[in-house]
Amino acid sequence: MDEIKAEHSLIGQLLNQLDTQSADNLYDRENMREFKKLIDEIPGGFLIYHADGEEEIIYANRALLRIFGCDTLSEFRSHTHNSFRGVVHAEDLDEIERSIAEQIANSQDDLDYVEYRIVRKDGVIRWVEDYGHLVRTELGNIFYVFIGDATEKVERRLHEKNELMSTIEEYDKERTLIRQEHLRRLEVIEGLSVNYVSILYADLDSDKILPYRYSRRIECQFESKQDVRPYSQIIDGYAKQWVHPDDKALFLRHTSVDYIRSHLKNKETFYFNYRYIENGETKYLQMRIVDVGSSGRISQVVMGIRAIDDEILQEVKQKQILQDALNTARVAEVAKNAFLSNMSHDMRTPLNAILGYLALAKNSLDSRDRLIEYLGKIETAGRQILDLVEKVLEFSYTESQDAKVSDDECNLADLVKEIYEALQPSFEQKDITFVLDTKKVNHLHVYADREKLKKILRHLIGNAVKYTDKGNVSVTLLENKAINGFAMYRFEIKDTGIGINPDVLDKIFAPFERENNTTMSGIYGAGLGLTICKQLVEMLGGTIEVVSKPKKGSTFSVNLSLRILDEETAKTGDRDEAYDRLQGRRILLAEDNEINREIETEILQNFGFVVDTAENGKIAVEKMRASRPGEYDVVLMDIQMPVMDGREATQAIRALGEERFKNIPIIALSANAFESDKRASMESGMNEHLPKPLDVDLLLKTIAELLKDKKYEI
Ligand code: ADP
Repeated sequence: MDEIKAEHSLIGQLLNQLDTQSADNLYDRENMREFKKLIDEIPGGFLIYHADGEEEIIYANRALLRIFGCDTLSEFRSHTHNSFRGVVHAEDLDEIERSIAEQIANSQDDLDYVEYRIVRKDGVIRWVEDYGHLVRTELGNIFYVFIGDATEKVERRLHEKNELMSTIEEYDKERTLIRQEHLRRLEVIEGLSVNYVSILYADLDSDKILPYRYSRRIECQFESKQDVRPYSQIIDGYAKQWVHPDDKALFLRHTSVDYIRSHLKNKETFYFNYRYIENGETKYLQMRIVDVGSSGRISQVVMGIRAIDDEILQEVKQKQILQDALNTARVAEVAKNAFLSNMSHDMRTPLNAILGYLALAKNSLDSRDRLIEYLGKIETAGRQILDLVEKVLEFSYTESQDAKVSDDECNLADLVKEIYEALQPSFEQKDITFVLDTKKVNHLHVYADREKLKKILRHLIGNAVKYTDKGNVSVTLLENKAINGFAMYRFEIKDTGIGINPDVLDKIFAPFERENNTTMSGIYGAGLGLTICKQLVEMLGGTIEVVSKPKKGSTFSVNLSLRILDEETAKTGDRDEAYDRLQGRRILLAEDNEINREIETEILQNFGFVVDTAENGKIAVEKMRASRPGEYDVVLMDIQMPVMDGREATQAIRALGEERFKNIPIIALSANAFESDKRASMESGMNEHLPKPLDVDLLLKTIAELLKDKKYEI
């Protein structure tokens, strides 16, 4: 070791001597010259310098001088300030010295390798590579360094690095773009899939599934969002834990790989609904499966699960509505057919009776008793037909909603009594007792639509009698506490008759419903009465209900809110007085139908009126024109008449000029009783519009009302 060191130091000294040409030993000089020659002929640069202190240069061979563009060693020494530090480009020096020190410290053989820039004498910058070897001698540490020009190599490397950098940059840019696009797509997917509580990605070929978004139900099948699990295991676990037992088979079938493949063969997506139970409540989910793979083979699919409770409910509701409508239509159809067959039977029976008894009567002209009997039967049959026709008309009338509610003063007890009086013969005939109980009513005087209320009660009491053979019919009036001048009234019509079967009871108010048809029950009826009653009650803002037990009897109850009439203003007993005042009043009756004219004349005369008649509107107008003042008090005008109808005639009378023609009460009589008919009559100048056949009570009341007004007093 020491020898080597000594040798090195020797070499250094010798070289120096050689350089300075001061070696005195010829042999040594010769050896050194050989050595120097050898070093100088090395194709690469060679540098020897002191590793310590100023890093003084000991020797640089020719090749190194060439690298630096120097012609002589002294030129090189002055260019580098005779130090290794001058060899290295100032900017690289610190880094290079640090690197050399570090490499030497870590190298067993004291070797290092560095690359750095140098500045040639002509100022050109070149890259060199430096293989250094530190040799430790007694004279100090010396570096032996091979230096080669590495400019092209480094430049090539830098060029390659730059190219790589720009490729990386481009790649980075592209990656950013892809990431942005990816994010945008994710946002779109998020946006489109907001309704999906769970989204899963599955690869059927490799039996893998991973969640993208999960609900509580899916969550417990996975450990984390990155957890890739076997598809079949997750599907089975989910079905077992969550899917409704009745839908499990369906669920497993729809999620089986074969099923998915066969269903995604021709379309991109399919879905199915299934149920699950949560807190004992059945809920609906929908799974949609979408093919997202790009190859022809179906393997990658996305599965979305969403709650569809609201939609299902809506659907179920919609179905229910349709079902109800269908049922209603079917029921109505069945009822209508039954009604038509009932009607044809119910019409034919009395018509046959009329024709039959007419034939019998014709043959019995010699027997007064038999004639009277047959005429009586003809009358009954005629009334039945009239009743039937009236009910059908009334039904369509109330159905048409073309009706108005009036506000008449009325006494509820009197109203019921009036009805009872009219029905009394039936009560007596069937040995039925009647009880009216108004004890619980504080205010019997009310404002109500008298006609409608009467129709309702008359029908219910009529039915009570009709469907009771023997026993009792009671009408109980109840009144609830009055508030703001109104009270809630309840009319209970109770019988001890045949009662109604429960299965008929809930549709008893539907049109054309009868428990038995006329043939079966032997009791005549159209099955429209209760429908009309209900319509009328509803028109009055009330409700109607029924409780009934077969063979025990029925109770129909009508609830109505009525305005209470001040007791002071309630008038009783006025009626007869008003009727008295009608005696001797003169009526012009315009009626084209001869029979009607005769009947109506007779009725009116019976009530003390003086009646003159006209066969059509034109004659009525002529009679009015020719009349003396006071000759007529009232005109009763049929609407449908030949030559000139009632409305034209009224307009003509009103236009006759004199004041009395403008004021004389004209009352329309018409079988057409719709509100629109009434309105047309009023518009033509009539004062009232009454239905036909003539309701004498109503007519008298109307005439009394009209004549009560001062301007009609003549
Ligand atoms: P109808 O004109 O046939 O009497 P309704 O509409 O008045 O028609 O009555 C319909 C059906 O309701 C009747 O056919 C009968 O079966 C039943 N009904 C009505 N009222 C009673 C009652 N008080 N007691 C028993 N059955 C009744």
